[in-house]
Formats: sequence, structure tokens, C-alpha cells
Amino acid sequence: MSNARIPLALRQRVVELFRYRCGYCLTSQRIIGPLLEIDHYIPESRGGSSEEDNLCLACPMCNNRKSDRVEAVDPESHAVVPLFNPCQQQWEEHFFWTEGGTVVQGLTAVGRATVVVLHMNHPDTVAARQLWVSAGWHPPSD
Ligand SMILES: [Zn+2]
Repeated sequence: MSNARIPLALRQRVVELFRYRCGYCLTSQRIIGPLLEIDHYIPESRGGSSEEDNLCLACPMCNNRKSDRVEAVDPESHAVVPLFNPCQQQWEEHFFWTEGGTVVQGLTAVGRATVVVLHMNHPDTVAARQLWVSAGWHPPSD
């Protein structure tokens, strides 16, 4: 809904910056039908801006689960930690693929908490990733 207020040129810059992939689960726009969405990492409801440094690309699954969250509980340490910030953090420093590229694992407290909160390994998503892997479309190699 707030996406309507983001100028088209800015939206396109974010799409290109994230290489047409979800900043959280790396799902490619080419694989899924619904368009990826512009996510405010810090939600507008919490004072987050619509500037490029607060905007990332997210698949509808991750964006819906993230909602207005900015932190979550690490399942290992039980500490409340910030969610992964695709605008400022490197994916490879917080996550890695297992099960042949179908399951995302958190490397850090931030990664583990984000995997849980965003349901990044929902069984339907993992099943879809199995098809993407077999087609050579996933996980991204760059
Ligand atoms: Zn996603």
C-alpha cells in the first residue's frame, strides 16, 4: 500500500540494486509470479523514511511476515536481536543454504531470528525451491 507513494524511478533503482531478488530469501522475480514488493526496513509506522537507504526488495511472503517488525528472538540465545537488514548487511554474513540450496540457515543471531520470523523455510517454499534447484534457477550464484 505504501508502495504507491514511492516514485517509479526510485522503485526501479531499488529493484535493480537488489538484482530483482528478495533481499531476505533471495527468491528471484523471474521464478515467482507475484511482483516483488518494496519493503521499508524501518516501517513508516515507526518513523522509517522512503529514502533509498531504508528500502529493500522483498517477496510477498517475506514482506507479509516481516510486517512492521524490526527485531525478533534468536532461537538459540533467546536474545532479542534486530532483523537482518538487506539495505545495510551482507546476506552471506548472516545466512547459508543447506539441503542442496532449498533451506536457509542462520549463521548469526540476526540470521537465525530472521529465518524464524519470516518463515523462510515454510514447507511450500522449500518444495518450490526443490523445483527451482532442479531447473538450475536457485540458489543465486552471485
Ligand atoms: Zn523473500
